[in-house]
Amino acid sequence: MPELPEVETTRLGLLPHLQGRRITAVTLHRPDLRWPIPPAVAALLQGQRIETVRRRAKYLLLDTAAGSALLHLGMSGSLRVLDAAAPLKLHDHVEMALDSGRVLRFNDPRRFGCLLWQASGQEHPLLQGLGPEPLSPGFDGDYLFARSRGRKAPVKSFLMDQRTVVGVGNIYAAESLYRAGIAPLRAAGRVSRERYQALALSIKDILAHAITRGGTTLRDFISPDGAPGYFEQELSAYGRGGQPCPGCGRKLRQASIGQRTSVWCSHCQR
Ligand SMILES: [Zn+2]
Repeated sequence: MPELPEVETTRLGLLPHLQGRRITAVTLHRPDLRWPIPPAVAALLQGQRIETVRRRAKYLLLDTAAGSALLHLGMSGSLRVLDAAAPLKLHDHVEMALDSGRVLRFNDPRRFGCLLWQASGQEHPLLQGLGPEPLSPGFDGDYLFARSRGRKAPVKSFLMDQRTVVGVGNIYAAESLYRAGIAPLRAAGRVSRERYQALALSIKDILAHAITRGGTTLRDFISPDGAPGYFEQELSAYGRGGQPCPGCGRKLRQASIGQRTSVWCSHCQR
């Protein structure tokens, strides 16, 4: 599943091909993805110039003067910029022809992604109430400390709540808690300010590193046959239950927290 680094890598890959380009035609090959695609989207986008490509949480926004196309890659979605003559592939559901002679195609086999519309000057309901971006200056240990006071929920669930911070999915929650030495089941309200500072730095560092690594796959976005730009991670805890802890060699524990599999070291994480 595309996580925040993959979505940011997608944005960085698309930007040079989309920014400043005019959309000459929009073709919907089906009326819905996860939700119905508003039928007016095609007419609203046609003739519009793409001012920029933004990311908010795991949503991508193609900004035009009329409003923004709001895209989510869901479980299996990918976006590619191709020559307009490139043959359609199975599960290519949406295409936007550009005045560069290229076409942006949205492929999504499982159709958990979406294409919606955000009118100019408005915020789509899906984006309302979201917490800060993890890589923004407003997200830090002081913020996490203040927000977590009195919270009895496990710190891992607190971290994965999109109202706390966006884009910290299961992988990044497990890895950052491991690196910061915080046990995932500890009550969020019982983690000190200093330890939240270490946690916030770990989250930023791990996400930034993943985005940097993703940069090496950027060529895939203009290759008709390339795989989507998802990439292997170097993981210390996630997916390694029962294996030795990289820090102390003891067996990593595995259990379900908030219905998500969690792995941690009960020696290194307190
Ligand atoms: Zn350990």
